Amino acid sequence: MARTETPRRIRGTQDIFGDEQRRFAHVLSTFERVRALYCFQRIDIPVFESTAVFARSLGETTDVVSKEMYTFEDRGGDSLTLRPEFTAGIARAYLTEGWQQFAPLKITTSGPVFRYERPQKGRFRQFHQIDAEVIGAAEPGADVELLVLADQLLRELGIADGVTLQLNTLGDADTREAWRAALVAHFEAHRGELSEDSLTRLEKNPMRILDSKDPKDRPIADSAPDIDAYLTPEARAFFDAVTAGLDAAGVAWERNARLVRGLDYYRHTAFEFVTDRLGSQGTVLAGGRYDGLIGSLGGPETAGVGWAAGVERLAMLLEEPAAAGIDAVVVPMGAAAEARATGIVADLRRAGVAVEMAYKGKMKARMAKADALGARFAIILGDDELAKGVGAVKALATGTQTEVAFADLAEALR
Ligand code: ATP
Ligand code: MG
Repeated sequence: MARTETPRRIRGTQDIFGDEQRRFAHVLSTFERVRALYCFQRIDIPVFESTAVFARSLGETTDVVSKEMYTFEDRGGDSLTLRPEFTAGIARAYLTEGWQQFAPLKITTSGPVFRYERPQKGRFRQFHQIDAEVIGAAEPGADVELLVLADQLLRELGIADGVTLQLNTLGDADTREAWRAALVAHFEAHRGELSEDSLTRLEKNPMRILDSKDPKDRPIADSAPDIDAYLTPEARAFFDAVTAGLDAAGVAWERNARLVRGLDYYRHTAFEFVTDRLGSQGTVLAGGRYDGLIGSLGGPETAGVGWAAGVERLAMLLEEPAAAGIDAVVVPMGAAAEARATGIVADLRRAGVAVEMAYKGKMKARMAKADALGARFAIILGDDELAKGVGAVKALATGTQTEVAFADLAEALR
């Protein structure tokens, strides 16, 4: 008879458990705490959108749109796409929900995003991002606030030391046009030395050649003209205000004139927090200003700036987070004690005490379980204790044991 094969996990997805899950949760809870300090409010948006939301805003020529999207037709015949990032969906929500009335709007979100990429360490097909955006603020102060928030998040996660903020400006529309022309002239002159991919980029999105990873392209990318000579006075002043703000807030940064963002809608500030601790997946947090995005979705011209970070990459950088401890483990010995323990455990949990019951196996195994759970106390219940109406409360760190009346247990454990 044919055996039914057990189902497999889809390539590039994850089942997150144990230590990995604790790291993951620690990143999210830290983000939740820090975003509240900066008065950003949390929103949630759908996991899928009309394909046009991403295709129009990210740009048809970007890797994400041309190669990485999970796009499908639903039963009604509409083309839908699993979100490959948050910003486009947030911009769509801003327009559909009339959030203009709350501008400038400071928001965060987090959750799974999907990209069809070759899975490797730190690169998945379903991964998770945390995301922060300020919509409707054209001032450089918004860029600064987002960068200081990112910096504080990394500090509170204890990983700021190995991570560097790289900063660039992509200028305003006039700057980009002039710089683009200079780049095209430079790359045209070196046509024969460029990689196949970069020849395509030259037609469609020449700026992308600058951050090409192909060793063949590097010398030509490195000798390309910097944007600086093409910055309009306004674009220059904007960039200066951002760097002055970072200096005032005590956030270290370095200029990376080769940093361009993959998505078409970026203007002015572009940045990445990078580390050399994750091999070639070294970018942990990235973003910039996207003043052109909401207009490209058919909305009124609206300023915006934001960033996203990969939760998995942040979690990989964490020092081993301490296993979540609990308050106590109840150890009932015998049927009568077990029956009584059910009520005691329920009462303790209702009183806000974190307890687990260890009712299986020999005493030694049960105490080992208490240790493994990181419990501070074991509450031993035998026939003697039942008769007296007490639990034998043992402090696991010191071994000291005291008898505590059932009614006083919650108080004693807190
Ligand atoms: P990369 O150069 O690594 O492909 P990216 O430029 O595509 O990154 P963004 O679109 O800026 O990445 O996404 C923001 C963050 O999301 C990245 O800095 C990274 O931490 C994380 N990230 C991106 N793609 C993946 C992935 N496939 N798996 C895990 N994390 C990812
Ligand atoms: Mg990518």
